[in-house]
Order: sequence, then C-alpha cells, then structure tokens
Amino acid sequence: MIHPHRDRVGAGTGRGSTLAGMSNGSAQTPTESPAETPVDPDGALRLLDVEGAPPGTFGEFEPTSPPLLDARGRVRLSFSRVDTYRNCPRKFRYAYIDRLPTEPSPHLSFGSSIHAALEAFYDRKLPSCPSEDDLLGFLYEVWDSSGFRDLPRDEQLSYYRHAQDVLRRFHRREAPTYRLPAATEAWFELPVGDAAVVVGSIDRVDADDDGRLHVIDYKTNRKVQDRQRVSRSLQLAIYALACQHLYGRLPVQVSLDFVVPGVMVTVDLDELDLERARAAVLDTATKVREEAFTPTPNRLCGWCDFRSVCPAWDGDGPQVLGPAVDQAVEMRRRLRREVRELRELEDGVTRLADELDGS
Ligand code: SF4
Repeated sequence: MIHPHRDRVGAGTGRGSTLAGMSNGSAQTPTESPAETPVDPDGALRLLDVEGAPPGTFGEFEPTSPPLLDARGRVRLSFSRVDTYRNCPRKFRYAYIDRLPTEPSPHLSFGSSIHAALEAFYDRKLPSCPSEDDLLGFLYEVWDSSGFRDLPRDEQLSYYRHAQDVLRRFHRREAPTYRLPAATEAWFELPVGDAAVVVGSIDRVDADDDGRLHVIDYKTNRKVQDRQRVSRSLQLAIYALACQHLYGRLPVQVSLDFVVPGVMVTVDLDELDLERARAAVLDTATKVREEAFTPTPNRLCGWCDFRSVCPAWDGDGPQVLGPAVDQAVEMRRRLRREVRELRELEDGVTRLADELDGS
C-alpha cells in the first residue's frame, strides 16, 4: 500500500524534537548536537539541510504516478487526475500518459510541507496536544525545499516563516479542542462501477463520541471558498464515498480547512452531490479510454508545465490560440450563417402568410 505522507513524515519525525525551541522564524538556542541545529552560526535558518534526506522523505502528493490501468483493466484515477482531465484533457495526457516531467514549485512545496507537519501533529499515540514548538519542529523536519531551490535565500526564508505563522495560527485555533482523529492520511482505493478506481488519501477523519465521522481536507491557498462552492466540491464528494468504503459509513460532515487564512468551511453530507461525483469519475474514465485528449485552453494555461509542447499555446503569454480557439471561431461563423438563413426563412413564411391573408 502506498502511503506517501506517512512514509515522509515517519522518516522526518524520527529525528526527534531537536527543534522544539524554535519559534518566530528566528534563531533559538539548539538543544542537541550542533550537527542537527537548524541555524547557521550567524543565526540564519539552514533551510537546505533537508536536502540530505533519503529519497521519498520529501515526496510530492503523488510521488510515483501509478499506471493508468490496474490489474483488472479499470482506469486508475485520483481526484487530481479527474480534476486535471476536466480542466484540460491534453494536460492529463502529458502528465499521466506521456509522463512528461514537471517542475517543482514553491506553491506545491509549501502545501506539501504544511500537510506533512499537520499529519505529524495529529498522528500521535497519546491524546495530549503537541505544543506549538513541537508543531514548528515537525515543520522543520518535513520541510520540502525542492520548490524553492531557484529562489534567493531571503525568499526561501520568507516562505518558511510564512509556514511557521500559518501553523502557529492553526495551533491557537485547534489546541483547545485537540483530540486524536480516527485517521490521518487515510489511504483509499475506491471502485467506481466496473470501469474505474479512485485512489488517494484523506487528510484527516475525525470521529465524535457517537462514532459519527467528519472528513477534513487541508487547503493551503489563500482564498477561502464560500459554503456553496465547498458543497459542490468534487474532492469532498469523492472523499465521502471513500470514507464509506473504508469505514462502512458516510461522514456526517465534510470540511475544507483553509489553513492559511485559518478558516474551516464545513457542510453537511446531504449538501454534497455524490451521484454527480460518481458520474464525473465514470465520464473521465470513459473519455480516457476513448483517448479523447483535446487541448482546452483556459485561464490556467500560463501556469501549465506543458506549454512548450502544447499546440494550443502560442508562446506569447496567457492568451492561448490553438485548435480550440479555431474551433470556436468556426462554430461562431456557422451559427451566424444559420441564424441568417433562419431569418430569411422566417421572412419568407411571413410574406407567404401575408399574401394568403390578402387573397
Ligand atoms: S497549455 Fe493550456 S491547453 Fe495546453 S495542455 Fe496546458 S492547460 Fe492544456
């Protein structure tokens, strides 16, 4: 069973609480051997120390892209695969079939680091809440520097300090009601019909005293989504189905926890459209089987890793010209012609009716 986060955090936290004294992003006196200190003698944080970690320690969300078909011939999807396909089928092909390499990014590394630190915060044997310093220590242990390598050192530091601030805020909010969750990074393989299986891991599943479940997914983007948008979340609907598959019952609530602004948006199960989620998965599986990979230019093209090979990218900024745009122009031309023909026909009918009335 693949468990990317657990493996990564397990490797990281195994080094203990060396950094328990670190806070506010500034240097504090290290408590153990100099070889493990988080600071240079000049007091600056040594972010790149983590590069010496073994492979897999700082994995990505999908560190190994699993094969597209499983042993039973089902299309193997994840939420991000479905989402990518719905956003742009050609991007899906580049990422998961051609497996073209992608660049690490600050955004992904930041998100990955926060997720891993929060996993360590909840993945405990004893129900006592780790201290704020412990949480910051987890962050240090799991910090993924890969996306920051090309940035100047002060920018790397500012990302790290931002992550510390986010986790301090999280600790202030969650520590008073801390309790161990039912699961963290709960890995699932959810069959959807005979044609697809969706794999992934749920960030956190809480259980109340009556055994009612609550699914939580952490988000590290700055903007909070409103309740209506959260209730339409395909990801949460898939996770609710996965929860049922794993634990035999659906959750009563699901949440997106926007940890950067520190706001959790929760909706009840009956606000989700589970059937729509199943249909979206099956529709994606069908189209992938049909090898339907038309480029679909969209507002995210400017951030797409595959611009250089995509025929819909004109190489000149985020306005994309390509087959889809040509198709739209042709369709508009055809519609105009049909509207003109419709009007001529209606005029003819009106004239004929007038002549009949006058005769
Ligand atoms: S550049 Fe745009 S159209 Fe091309 S693959 Fe990327 S997202 Fe799709």
